[in-house]
Amino acid sequence: MQDKIIYLDNAATTAVAPEVIQEMLPYFERYWGNPSSLYDFGQQVRADITDARTRIAANLGASADNLYFTSCGTESNNWAIKETMFAYQNKGRHFVTSSIEHHATSHSAEWLEKRGCEVSYVKVDHNGLINLEDFRAALRPDTVMASIIHGNNEIGTIQPIAELAAIAREHKVLFHTDAVQTVGHLPVNVEDLGVDFLSASGHKFYAPKGVGLLYIRKGVKTKGLLDGGAQERKRRAGTENVPYIMGMARALDLSIEHLSERAAHATKLRNHLISRVLSEVDHCRLNGHPTLRLPGNANISFEFVEGESLLLMLEQKGILASSGSACASGSLDPSHVLLAIGLSHEIAHGSLRLTIGHETTQADIDYTVEAIKEVVAQLREMSPLYEDFIAGRKAVSAIK
Ligand SMILES: *Cc1c(COP(=O)(O)O)cnc(C)c1O
Repeated sequence: MQDKIIYLDNAATTAVAPEVIQEMLPYFERYWGNPSSLYDFGQQVRADITDARTRIAANLGASADNLYFTSCGTESNNWAIKETMFAYQNKGRHFVTSSIEHHATSHSAEWLEKRGCEVSYVKVDHNGLINLEDFRAALRPDTVMASIIHGNNEIGTIQPIAELAAIAREHKVLFHTDAVQTVGHLPVNVEDLGVDFLSASGHKFYAPKGVGLLYIRKGVKTKGLLDGGAQERKRRAGTENVPYIMGMARALDLSIEHLSERAAHATKLRNHLISRVLSEVDHCRLNGHPTLRLPGNANISFEFVEGESLLLMLEQKGILASSGSACASGSLDPSHVLLAIGLSHEIAHGSLRLTIGHETTQADIDYTVEAIKEVVAQLREMSPLYEDFIAGRKAVSAIK
């Protein structure tokens, strides 16, 4: 194992930026009062999180009144979906989403189904893109809400959220987007997108894990998941996570300040990585849209290779990435996203997701390409399927 780690799993989480740590420290060491306390020691802290809320809202084109702090992106998605469906149950019980959502959305949809709601899952094409007319066709008079992911965490495809939200609005359907992969990485403005709800999470843009946000358009009915105190305008009880909120505000300021240069850097390295792998390794394919994709995302399937083995062998070379199996579940089922774009189980199992951060260098990428070439060749040498294929016993490879 080499000393240096090449971290290519920025879609899973990012490192906390040093400036963000500096921003947070005073709120552990000195200003640890409760923002709900009436004395100055609490009220000073309240003023600081109010400032953080205003800055974050401005960065998203929202008003501070419409921004709610949560514990993570998962909470934001659960809140937006479950509580809004509940709040509007007199209108109907139909919910629309896509077949390629993060589990925080798809499992919330399953939760709704178990409680008497009906869910329609809009399909995607082979690039992971939703067709606007398919979306329109899924909306019904009793549809309360639609939730569509902005940038896909696995295959990187970016959906036309503004167009989808406009269609939802025409049909008087509320629209939520899971923007966890785009906030801090691409321009995200709630007015330009025209969404009613938007979720984001700090640890995907260089803030710590355990803090997120939900934007809720003014006038939309919804109740928070938690009952308790009057925090977050009585919509999300629980004492505010002051240091993390301050850190998230700083992290978003930094991300926005460097947005175009970082997006250009990640896009360039991603394109370099994809074109080198596709031209230098046989029998592999890019998953996700070739151009409408997250700047730092490369997702590639290698035929005759098992994704988990690929990951372990790359780790031995100091490269940290992710595979296409259902993450963290210990399950061997391939990702629902890879199946939804039409991959066979076999090919989905050979998938590798590499996600680039602003600290990634071209040398990291070139080292990674060499490592992938070596490891894929080694694994194929051990693969009976590959042996059959080479010997002509398996007629054609599924990938050219
Ligand atoms: C990471 C992620 C989430 C979950 O966010 P947490 O803060 O880890 O709960 C939700 N949606 C997408 C697209 C993600 O990438």
